[in-house]
Amino acid sequence: MKSALVCGAGGFIGHHLVSRLKDEGMWVCGVDIKPPEFSASRADEFKLVDLRDPTATYKCLDRDFDEVYQLAADMGGAGYVFTGENCAAVMHNSALININVVDACRQAGVGRVFFSSSACVYPLYNQQDPQNPTCAEATVYPALPDSEYGWEKLFAERLYLTYARNYGMTCRIARYHNIFGPEGTWQGGREKAPAALCRKVAMAEDGGEIEIWGDGEQTRSFLYIDECLEATLRLMRSDCDEPLNIGSDEMISIDGLAQAIAHIAGKKLSLHHIAGPTGVRGRTSDNRLIRETLGWAPSARLNEGLKSTYRWIAEQVAATGQA
Ligand code: NAD
Repeated sequence: MKSALVCGAGGFIGHHLVSRLKDEGMWVCGVDIKPPEFSASRADEFKLVDLRDPTATYKCLDRDFDEVYQLAADMGGAGYVFTGENCAAVMHNSALININVVDACRQAGVGRVFFSSSACVYPLYNQQDPQNPTCAEATVYPALPDSEYGWEKLFAERLYLTYARNYGMTCRIARYHNIFGPEGTWQGGREKAPAALCRKVAMAEDGGEIEIWGDGEQTRSFLYIDECLEATLRLMRSDCDEPLNIGSDEMISIDGLAQAIAHIAGKKLSLHHIAGPTGVRGRTSDNRLIRETLGWAPSARLNEGLKSTYRWIAEQVAATGQA
């Protein structure tokens, strides 16, 4: 039986990834500093470990794993990474995690290692025009990420690439673009735009209003969790040794996203624009390289994923009595 270690298995993507690997019949160990928040992990073994601790990290590699997925990071949405208050923690914590995990994998002789980078590595100067952002993989240099979170991801990409070059390791690197779906953080300050807007819509009265950070014209694309996992496994098991975008190329403004969610909820809402952390003006996934390299790219429509995500968040809101 093939085996996998998922670091960050208590988080949104890691938790879903564990389920997907279990569906494939693998033996799975999950590691995180906390258990998943909304449902029990299906991992065969779940270890509560702080991956900033090198000794504890080396101990996680206690068997011959065929695959290691490194998703653990100190991260959140714009309200966490763009306010400036968490920059030192983000860089310190995530850099330590990445340094420890990649070196533990080297020592243990792991077959394949996957690292989750981010679209936040792309330079600010290519994302000023909301209608025309450039996020092709090769445009990442000269580097100018818009956040320390992006700089740490760029450092970590280079870390995994150097381990591949100097130690012959097989490393796969994805640049995720705004992954969303049920069982993601939806309140508390670390939630990302789709979850935050689903929560606001679920809490609003029909005919009322919701707050939007910025002018709402900033654009993004959003990838549903199922397609993210499909792309992750395809990349992991491919021979692609350069970083690859994993995202949707269906670009939409934040106002457009809010309206789409309100439509799903069957509510008429007005949008009240307020000052807030917004990140770059425009960003979408460029899927030419993934199509060329893997012969596949995400294709599901945003609206489909929004329906199930809204339904799940509306249930959470109702259960906490906030509706
Ligand atoms: P998440 O925050 O839900 O999951 C990250 C997990 O890492 C959390 O469960 C957290 O507890 C764990 N973690 C943090 N510090 C740890 C430590 N010291 N030891 C052990 N575990 C620790 O985030 P996610 O949305 O599931 O993202 C997974 C990965 O994908 C992250 O690396 C993130 O940067 C990257 N990514 C995500 C998105 C997205 O849209 N969700 C976009 C780009 C990149």
